[in-house]
Amino acid sequence: MIDKTTVDQILEAARVEEVVEDFVNLKRRGVNMIGRCPFHDEKTPSFTVSPSKNIYKCFGCGEGGFPVNFVMTHENMSFPEALRYLAKKYNIEIQEKEVSAEELAARQVADSLYIVNDYAKDYFGNQLFNTDEGKSVGLSYFKNRGFLESTIKKWNLGYTNADRDDFTRSAISKYYKKEHLKTLGLTSRSDIDFFRSRVMFAIHNLSGKVIAFGGRTLSSDKKIPKYMNSPESEIYNKSRSLYGLYFAKTAIRKADECIMVEGYTDVITLHQNQVENVVASSGTSLTSGQIHLVSRYTSNMKIIYDGDPAGIKAALRGVDLVLEHDMNVKIVMLPTGEDPDSFMKAKGTEGFKEYLAENEKDFLFFKIELLMADAGNDPIKKTIVMKDIVGSIAKIPDQLKRAVYLQETSRVLNVDEAILLSETAKIIKKDLKKKDIDNRRKNNKSNSNHPKPTLSAPGASGEEEFFPMDDGEAPPPGGFGEQSAAPPILDDEYQEKDIIRILVNHGALIYDEEEGTSVGQHIVAHVRDDIDKIDNPIYKTMLEMAIKAIDSGDKVTAELYANTQDAKMSSIAVELMADPYTYADWEQKGVFLQTQKPPDENQVLDTDQAILRFRLVKIKKLIDIVENTIKEFPVDQNGSEEFMLNMKVFIKLKDERNSIAKELNAVIF
Ligand SMILES: [Zn+2]
Repeated sequence: MIDKTTVDQILEAARVEEVVEDFVNLKRRGVNMIGRCPFHDEKTPSFTVSPSKNIYKCFGCGEGGFPVNFVMTHENMSFPEALRYLAKKYNIEIQEKEVSAEELAARQVADSLYIVNDYAKDYFGNQLFNTDEGKSVGLSYFKNRGFLESTIKKWNLGYTNADRDDFTRSAISKYYKKEHLKTLGLTSRSDIDFFRSRVMFAIHNLSGKVIAFGGRTLSSDKKIPKYMNSPESEIYNKSRSLYGLYFAKTAIRKADECIMVEGYTDVITLHQNQVENVVASSGTSLTSGQIHLVSRYTSNMKIIYDGDPAGIKAALRGVDLVLEHDMNVKIVMLPTGEDPDSFMKAKGTEGFKEYLAENEKDFLFFKIELLMADAGNDPIKKTIVMKDIVGSIAKIPDQLKRAVYLQETSRVLNVDEAILLSETAKIIKKDLKKKDIDNRRKNNKSNSNHPKPTLSAPGASGEEEFFPMDDGEAPPPGGFGEQSAAPPILDDEYQEKDIIRILVNHGALIYDEEEGTSVGQHIVAHVRDDIDKIDNPIYKTMLEMAIKAIDSGDKVTAELYANTQDAKMSSIAVELMADPYTYADWEQKGVFLQTQKPPDENQVLDTDQAILRFRLVKIKKLIDIVENTIKEFPVDQNGSEEFMLNMKVFIKLKDERNSIAKELNAVIF
């Protein structure tokens, strides 16, 4: 662990233009610097670096951040890795924080496991290149597949001989612990080698360390399993690793697409032929963890299938999982008898790419085609297919996308769109209900009686009443109401964002010179009691961080939000800082604003307005709730105590609203 003082020191030292210039050619333009974006392909530069704000932002693809974010994204590093990189660049000595004995022990075990795997990798490599058996059996197999020697070395391919315990004896003679060999599955329980007489594929994690092996037999004996894989261990979680991702991640980001194939050799052949955005799920069908891994780099996935229709149908189940993660899925079928490896060899790189582009199919139509061909004219089978397809569509979180798919499906299947709509709605509602019940079980122990709007702030428990779920049978055309877990966009979200915008940009500036208060202090003092009224969870966290900083005597600056591993937060901070049309740009263009001071001299008025507007929208929302409660009161209870209480609150809130509105008018004019 790097201690906090050193972290601050590193983040302070890192200058965005110096960090970026190691990778991107920058030209000065006005107060900013500009270059061609390293994160997407572009001809005209839209990648902007602001030395004064110490941020970068691409107005083409939206990538943006502080220096540390650039290193993380560009070099695919974790936050601590990026900090170490920057420390090296700026000659800052890293003070390691003391770690607990437990942490240390866990890390030492993991470290030793990596070291053992590293030894095994070298051993298998040595067998392949330097022994007679390895050369004649293993190396000739790889060469027959067309692998270059550089490819074999890059991917850490290897060979194990037929001896029963040659590897284990060799490792133990080098003082590697048998316990670790067994944990990693390199040595079996009966002390013999787990992998024997196989060509070996090393499996790497995201930072390139070997975490497991896959071994393929070259024997034609049907009793011997073709592939064997390392068991899971502290360093290898099968459902959270993808073969080849370490070598593919940069290409995936650049192409904004991840190609999935089935086998190790497919991945290697495609990479060797300059199609590098390729990974394999190595035999298992896709898992949620693997999709999550890919989604860090792109939201577009292309799955290449060969093999028989039965296998494809099984694999299609994985597609629903991909859809749930809001990824776009395309499917390419190779001609019968071809796999990606053989097909690349037959067609060459350009021909291969062309085929993919011409034959990619949207997952849904691929699925329809496949299932309908099976169903033929059987009406019962057809209904089952329709249900299956609708089930897939219901998994898509994006409402608009769902609507487009339904329309297309209705056309292709020749089924009335209204029927598909109501079927989808039923499934979504069922899923929602299930989710809702689960949530209630988790959250609500006491709030089980009928919910009545309360006067408390809109928050976790009140949310349902603000956005009541339609209980009717059929959804309105084109929409099914909110179904994702994310809170709906509120009209007052803008005001929440504006508060955060001022904190990020002007938090450290002076608000009141006489009192010596900063903008950050002023905002925190006026908004801290309303923190629960902030609906957007990230803005809420950002405000909480500001409160914490002020309470401990620190300033609120943009760096506060850069010093976090939360990529979403730092990207929001940068978004708020990176107005494409800054005041300085206007001046550069000769446009002088007569009516308004530049933003960094206008912070007092800006702050006052933002706070008042924020309070105004929040109070309006409360008024609406109380008003509804009053309206819904049965007529015969209009004299009841509860009714009168609501009336009193209603009048009081309205008074308060009027006085805020007045104040706001006074501030503006
Ligand atoms: Zn870009």
